[in-house]
Amino acid sequence: MIRQLEALKKIMDRLIQGVNSKSEKLEIEQRKLERGTDMQIIVSPVPLWDPVLQLNTSPGKHWEEKVTASLMLHELTHIYGTEDNDSKGELLNAHTIEIYPPVEGTPAFRGLILKCQKQRHK
Ligand SMILES: [Zn+2]
Repeated sequence: MIRQLEALKKIMDRLIQGVNSKSEKLEIEQRKLERGTDMQIIVSPVPLWDPVLQLNTSPGKHWEEKVTASLMLHELTHIYGTEDNDSKGELLNAHTIEIYPPVEGTPAFRGLILKCQKQRHK
């Protein structure tokens, strides 16, 4: 458990660093995704390409700020090594980490969410 907590801390530290970074890039694009998938992230195994956050273009999606923030937090943690299952441990499962982040307290993260919402409403 301690090892998982340490790994989780490293992931969250890197995520904060990434969100605040002026050099690390995140592409945001609209795509027709599978039904039931609101958002997904494509992370290249080689660090040549920037991660791409894809938003589903299907109608009927609600991009309320808190939900968007929660989904985005889930997806962004994948860049730094979380999984969608317990294969690396429960704490490194993105679904476990998927909480409502305090968007008011993190201007860079909030900026990302707004960019995402703007993109979605185009
Ligand atoms: Zn996931």
